[in-house]
Amino acid sequence: MDHFEYRDGALYAENVPVADIVQRFGTPTYVYSAATLSRHYRVFDDALAGIDHDICFAVKANGNIGVLGVLADLGSGFDIVSVGELERVITAGGDPARVVFSGVGKRVDEIERALEVGIACFNVESEAELACIDALAQRMGVVAPISLRVNPDVDAQTHPYISTGLKENKFGIAIDRAEALYADAAVRAGLAPIGVDCHIGSQLTTLSPFRDAVGRVLDLIDRLAGRGIELSHIDVGGGLGVCYRDETPPTPAEYASAIADMLGDRPLKLILEPGRVLVANAGILVTRVALLKPGTAEDDKHFAVVDAAMNDLIRPALYAGWHRVVPLQMNTHGGQTRSWDIVGPICETGDFLAQGRELTLAAGDLLAVRTAGAYGFTMASNYNARPRAAEVMVVDDAMHEVRARETLADLMRGERRLPFS
Ligand SMILES: *Cc1c(COP(=O)(O)O)cnc(C)c1O
Repeated sequence: MDHFEYRDGALYAENVPVADIVQRFGTPTYVYSAATLSRHYRVFDDALAGIDHDICFAVKANGNIGVLGVLADLGSGFDIVSVGELERVITAGGDPARVVFSGVGKRVDEIERALEVGIACFNVESEAELACIDALAQRMGVVAPISLRVNPDVDAQTHPYISTGLKENKFGIAIDRAEALYADAAVRAGLAPIGVDCHIGSQLTTLSPFRDAVGRVLDLIDRLAGRGIELSHIDVGGGLGVCYRDETPPTPAEYASAIADMLGDRPLKLILEPGRVLVANAGILVTRVALLKPGTAEDDKHFAVVDAAMNDLIRPALYAGWHRVVPLQMNTHGGQTRSWDIVGPICETGDFLAQGRELTLAAGDLLAVRTAGAYGFTMASNYNARPRAAEVMVVDDAMHEVRARETLADLMRGERRLPFS
């Protein structure tokens, strides 16, 4: 459930007409609903009520300080993949002691900063990283809490670019190597092995890959316990899917109960790293139709050129992501009804937001790209020298600019001509 609804034919974000947001902030603009975000967090948290758990929101899905702040206030922890995300969490008021640090290529300075602020756990993805964290922790006179991110070799049955739990993927440590590495970690003075982690992919719409992965990880935990290595948490990663079109992903309740069943009575704390499921439907991308380019021949394509592009929302180009596109105002004019390709102005054929959508459009119309709150702005770029969009958070009947639209000066910040030319 989300709080983007039509009232008398006009799209609202909570109690604000989205057209009012456009009037004040222009287009393209990301619009988030705080009530939707809170609701999604609570539904997820409530589903886990019977289990000792910690929700660590995956910052890469949406790192806006305003978004992170709402989640921090709700009590969320955070899953980060860079020191930049760590500083975002701290700036937003998140607790570093509730941060887990994932990623295959953590740099020395990133590990040092994470040790300095005392994060909850490093999700270690290689032998080399294990040795590096040990050395840095010893040099700093601290002990680094670690878990190994194991690669359980299960097929998440999602888009290949967002599948991460197969042997051929770069992520994690092969599960059959993990036991030996835990034994190694246990005798290193700079490391405290406290947990185990896996993350098999994103936009998962069935429970079976989760069950397979968690089963394999629990077997590992049991084998380690047999060797005297007692872990206190299992981190099952993120990946629960959302409905973009007609997918029917498991509900948070179904997901939670499947995991709880598998944990049984093991005294393990459950850590989860949801990203998409918390924020995707809490955001839309609002764009204006710049002009129409209808085809003339029977089999021609009809293009609606809008002012948002693949630099604002790359999911359609990158993963064949499908987003619903809806008008801000229903049925007010005699536009042209066609099967439109909604394309941006960027010089790439892959620059489209949607293809073949039956819509009635005229130049100047405003459109909302739904389910854009996850992997939307965080993946935005300045390609074609396009300033990145504004981000606005609605709270009931108020709108708050949580990131100003970039200016042309922002675009060129730090650049200069050669000194001798
Ligand atoms: C991307 C990612 C997540 C979040 O995935 P979602 O599909 O957005 O829930 C969680 N953990 C890790 C390690 C990730 O890389």
